[in-house]
Amino acid sequence: MQLCVALDLESKSQNLELLQLLKGHDLWVKVGLRSYIRDGASFIEAIKNIDEDFKIFLDLKLFDIPNTMADAAYECSQLGIDLISLHASSGKIAMSCVMERLNSLQKPPLVFAITALTSFDDDTFRSVYNAPLSEHSITLARLAYESALDGVVCSVLETQAIKRATHTNFLTLTPGIRPFGTMDDDQKRTGDISSAKECGTDFIVIGRPIYQSSSPLQTLEKILAEIQKYEKNKK
Ligand code: C5P
Repeated sequence: MQLCVALDLESKSQNLELLQLLKGHDLWVKVGLRSYIRDGASFIEAIKNIDEDFKIFLDLKLFDIPNTMADAAYECSQLGIDLISLHASSGKIAMSCVMERLNSLQKPPLVFAITALTSFDDDTFRSVYNAPLSEHSITLARLAYESALDGVVCSVLETQAIKRATHTNFLTLTPGIRPFGTMDDDQKRTGDISSAKECGTDFIVIGRPIYQSSSPLQTLEKILAEIQKYEKNKK
């Protein structure tokens, strides 16, 4: 299980200061809408300059018509990132179009589809999709699997069912992780590290519990130690 730290701080310099603290650890980092809209491609370069081994997830959650999505995904791939996200609700044609465009590249990034945002509870999900979250998130994951994506973004609550409905090698990335009983903030479908391990997820995303803690480095090291503990128990 890989840890991905969300870089959602208020300024570029704060994000870079956080990375200076965390560098040297085997980490993925997530550049989301806030940071990318404000700081653009130069932020990606700045991350690589701090530690070229950081793997970068560019989380722009693409959702548009097929041709626009394929063009946007191609442009993302040119930034030297390792993973991008799009919405499974954009449909099979759009997702397949993205994969076709990226497949011609020598080193395409991984592509993950958002199923149900982890800030959604069942009521909010139904108000948008007119369907129960537990069932429809699996339908969305299947669409992504059939479109040849590498994986999905989902919560720890759906991970096992999604892997059962697709393939164990179909990757899952789960935000909404609250490691040591920290606040849920705006997240609704949360879990801790043991529940993430138990459901067999491949990546966990943690933002505020790390960067809002009084000692981000200590918190990160505690989280990595927890992950290791469960990896060892598994062997
Ligand atoms: O601060 P926190 O740990 O809640 O950060 C979670 C990160 O994961 C945020 O950057 C958020 O945009 C992202 N995310 C999410 N739920 C999804 C997809 C991405 O929370 N379904």
